Amino acid sequence: MSAQFYYLRRPDINPAIVGLRRLSIRKNMNKKIVMSGIRPTGFLHLGNYFGAIRNYVRLQEEFECYFMVADLHSLTTHPDTSELKSNVHRVLAENIACGLDPEKAAFYCQSHIHETGELYLYLNMLAYKGELEKTVTFKDKVRQSPDNVNAGLLTYPVLQAADIVLHRASYVPVGKDQEQHLEMARTYVNRFNHRYKEVFPEPIAFNYSEELIKVPSLDGTGKMSKSENQMATLYLADDDDTIRKKVMKAKTDGGPTEINSIKPDFIANIFQLMKLVSSDEVIAKFDADFNNCTIRYGDMKKQLGEDMVKFISPIRQKATDILTNEEYLKEVMEKGAAKARRSAAATMEIVREAMGLKYF
Ligand code: ADP
Repeated sequence: MSAQFYYLRRPDINPAIVGLRRLSIRKNMNKKIVMSGIRPTGFLHLGNYFGAIRNYVRLQEEFECYFMVADLHSLTTHPDTSELKSNVHRVLAENIACGLDPEKAAFYCQSHIHETGELYLYLNMLAYKGELEKTVTFKDKVRQSPDNVNAGLLTYPVLQAADIVLHRASYVPVGKDQEQHLEMARTYVNRFNHRYKEVFPEPIAFNYSEELIKVPSLDGTGKMSKSENQMATLYLADDDDTIRKKVMKAKTDGGPTEINSIKPDFIANIFQLMKLVSSDEVIAKFDADFNNCTIRYGDMKKQLGEDMVKFISPIRQKATDILTNEEYLKEVMEKGAAKARRSAAATMEIVREAMGLKYF
């Protein structure tokens, strides 16, 4: 975003308005805005780390970042709130243990920013029932919970779009599973900009690697996930033995019988997991063993288990320490909410004006 574009988008810090403060805030002028969120629906896992959090940690060094615990989104599928508080604490602690720095990024809770609800309402008028019903995640959730097909579930992508554009964000670090939602957010942005006034930049899904990441589950079907497939998902809170056990249970077969054969999906998944945590030499060795039909999957899984333990256990230990310090977590959440509210209030001023909701 050029500096000029940024001023237009952020009149709250437009140098024409803030006058003498101009020089001191110039450094922020060229920063793109980043926004993302994770639902507090359970323990964070390797998919959350590689699809989202790893990117947060890099992005916070370069951009103005807003990272959110998406507690309202979790109500669409988890109406029982008895574990919500401990889940919110856990998501905060695990993100910080992974390297998210609340001094650099605004780290807050979705329900603490009331402007989100207002923007969600406006965007709902730009979202059509037919396209919402076609969303892949909506169809999946209907299949999983046919007794709880609520309107919040249907309009989940609209609330997500509101979360993002509330800060006029351009980059959204998410995994591949969120690609379609981002496409929908762009649709609403374009409809808004076209119908009212150019207010929002088009948000794009962001990952530092060339492609968006999908971390596969260990049983060879689907992706790792907080709430499904718990034995096939590696959680950042898993103890060392559980990690080893889960990896050893990953689906394999008798091995290839022809040299240079194509890897079946469930074997390709194990290699993909290895690429996340193992060294290049280790991967090259097992790749060569596969290609010349000498691979021993037991050895491969043992190695992967150890590399996963090495990766996950320091995060687990750090998160456990942070979780004991509730006062610190509260401070983080309040500080993040204050910053997010400032950004949200500035956006909503422009939105109401653009929509013609200012009468005097
Ligand atoms: P979950 O599906 O586990 O409930 P969320 O919906 O809260 O996770 O998603 C939080 C972030 O983690 C999103 O950016 C999402 O794209 C990412 N994510 C979740 N699962 C995976 C996965 N298996 N691979 C890659 N990214 C993932």
